[in-house]
Amino acid sequence: MLQFLFWLSQQLNLVFIIAISVLVVGIIGQRSIYQIQRQIRIRKEAEEKMRLYAKDIEIAKIEIEKQKDQLDSIVSSMGEGLLVCDDKKRCILVNQMAGSLLRSTPSDLAGKPVQECVSFFQANDKEGRQSQFVGLLEEAMTGPDIITKAAVDHFFCQGPDDHCTAFPVALVIAPLLKKGKSAGTITLFRDSTREERIDEMKSEFVSVASHQLRTPLTVINWNLEMLLEEKTEKLSTRQEQYIKDVYKESQRMVALVNDLLNVSRLQSGRVKIEPVATDLEDFIEDIISAYRPLLSQSKRAFIFKRPKRRLPAVPVDRILFRQVIDNFITNAIRYSPADKNSTVTVALAKMKDGYQVSVTDEGIGIPLADQEHIFEKLFRSDNARLAASDGSGLGLYISRMIMDSGGCKLWFESKEGHGSTFYALLPVTGMREKSGEKKFAGGKVE
Ligand code: ADP
Repeated sequence: MLQFLFWLSQQLNLVFIIAISVLVVGIIGQRSIYQIQRQIRIRKEAEEKMRLYAKDIEIAKIEIEKQKDQLDSIVSSMGEGLLVCDDKKRCILVNQMAGSLLRSTPSDLAGKPVQECVSFFQANDKEGRQSQFVGLLEEAMTGPDIITKAAVDHFFCQGPDDHCTAFPVALVIAPLLKKGKSAGTITLFRDSTREERIDEMKSEFVSVASHQLRTPLTVINWNLEMLLEEKTEKLSTRQEQYIKDVYKESQRMVALVNDLLNVSRLQSGRVKIEPVATDLEDFIEDIISAYRPLLSQSKRAFIFKRPKRRLPAVPVDRILFRQVIDNFITNAIRYSPADKNSTVTVALAKMKDGYQVSVTDEGIGIPLADQEHIFEKLFRSDNARLAASDGSGLGLYISRMIMDSGGCKLWFESKEGHGSTFYALLPVTGMREKSGEKKFAGGKVE
């Protein structure tokens, strides 16, 4: 019996162990199947996501290609030449028009240093073409301004083949910005032969008309002078006053005709600049002394602020530079009230980058909205027209052209109702010499 019980317990143990084992194997198996199923599901989801991503990428690729095609067709059908350079001044993008303007092909030009592809230079300075162009690119890269040259600036363009003739060009050079930093330049240019021709025709007309007007005006002036100086012929006081008035107006007309003639000469680059070593202090004093009698008749005070130390002689074309300073002073007087105490200050100073002459007045000032137009031909502010009806709007335009072609700077600061200061800055080396067939005609007559 005992033996039977012992045998039974052994059999039960065995069954128990087998049952437990089956249970454990079952549980483990169940878990593995669950994990495998889970992994299959995750994999399927990942595959689905990948498929969707791939689809998105494909759509984005098509969109990018569409945009690139659009951009390519815009760039290649542009009516202006486009030249994009990197910071090493290598052409990275050249459009069809640039290729044909430069008598080459975009593929020939792309990748080359820009100096080997093109040069833009000023008509009257063919030497150092490359350095002029590289200078312009550097100026555009370092900013802050976009460089613009219109037909009136007389810029020329020459392609890589020196045998082709250079043509007049209008251009814009802007910095190529990447993340707000300059990474090269974008140049847009076009052939401006037609505009130049039209401009030349206008200038020729003005020049011929001014010439024709000058002759009768000179005769009128002579005769009026003779009448005024003739002591034997008795003129009544009234008659004398009439003649004086006519004489003054005819002189103004001579000045206007001269201004027109000068505009056309300066625009066509025909005015020569002949700098001679000049003591600027004496030079300014001489100009000012011509205005003292006029100022003494009004309540205006005149101050000349001299430099702290005597300046060395500076090369300037005295006729042209006098024209600029005369214009500043005439305007300072014209646009400040004669009946109120106000001061016109002329200052000469040595600056870091040259010699500066400034003329400050306490007059009507220039309205902010008009300030960007002040150097435009024939521009006059409304407040200036009210204050003085007799201006022509040519003086500052002429001054600007003189200073530009002489390598000098000209600018102003002004506040409406508070006055203005006009500045002329001569470089340390003085005014730049320039050859030309014409001298400057006459000057302003007050
Ligand atoms: P004009 O004085 O003969 O009109 P300018 O070319 O010399 O021509 O000047 C152009 C315009 O600039 C003037 O009409 C006037 O509006 C403005 N301007 C120049 N100088 C001054 C100044 N000192 N004060 C106020 N406005 C000025």
